[in-house]
Amino acid sequence: MRPFRVISMMKEEYLYDSYRCPNCNQIRKLTELTYLLKWNEQFKSSYMISVVEEARQGHLKWACDDCIKSKRVVVGKAEEQNWNGITYPFFTHNDEILECQTCKCSFEFSKEEKKFWYEDLKFIVWSYPKNCASCRRKIREPKVKSKRLTELITNIENTDTTEVEEIIDIFLEYGNFEKAKYYLSVLRKRNAVDQERISFIKEKIHNLSQQNT
Ligand SMILES: [Zn+2]
Ligand SMILES: [Zn+2]
Repeated sequence: MRPFRVISMMKEEYLYDSYRCPNCNQIRKLTELTYLLKWNEQFKSSYMISVVEEARQGHLKWACDDCIKSKRVVVGKAEEQNWNGITYPFFTHNDEILECQTCKCSFEFSKEEKKFWYEDLKFIVWSYPKNCASCRRKIREPKVKSKRLTELITNIENTDTTEVEEIIDIFLEYGNFEKAKYYLSVLRKRNAVDQERISFIKEKIHNLSQQNT
């Protein structure tokens, strides 16, 4: 983008010229946010006020050019993410420290893991892993797994979409395809899940049940 264009856009559209990068915490000017301005163009026709204004108000996951160029963050692909108009895609992925809900330890949810989690596995954006790697491994053990399944099912009203998917996966491992299909229908009723994700799971159930017959 040529510099004079940024300046003319600033005059026309933007009231502010100081933005705190949520990743490095530095105050940046619009000329240091060329990536954000690109997304601003791309999302112009959407319902957002403007990407730049949402970023200024702290509603987005984004980062300044310097953070992107120095690879402190990974650029997100909005079109690969499951955000379905209910929230905003992640424009960048950063390393983040989370607390494990089971053992209360701190664990890192790295930018590379996030890219995989949101763009390959297509977990809905703004959902986060609840457990550290070691607790997740324990959850996969059979005895713990059946306890976990009972917990999730008895508490189905309070589960989020990743937990309903967890139920489906456990039933698939048990080879109980009827139950897996039933929980797919439960998942389908949740507003936050897009059609693409449903088709993906449907196909997974279908392929696994074919293998078993
Ligand atoms: Zn930054
Ligand atoms: Zn843990």
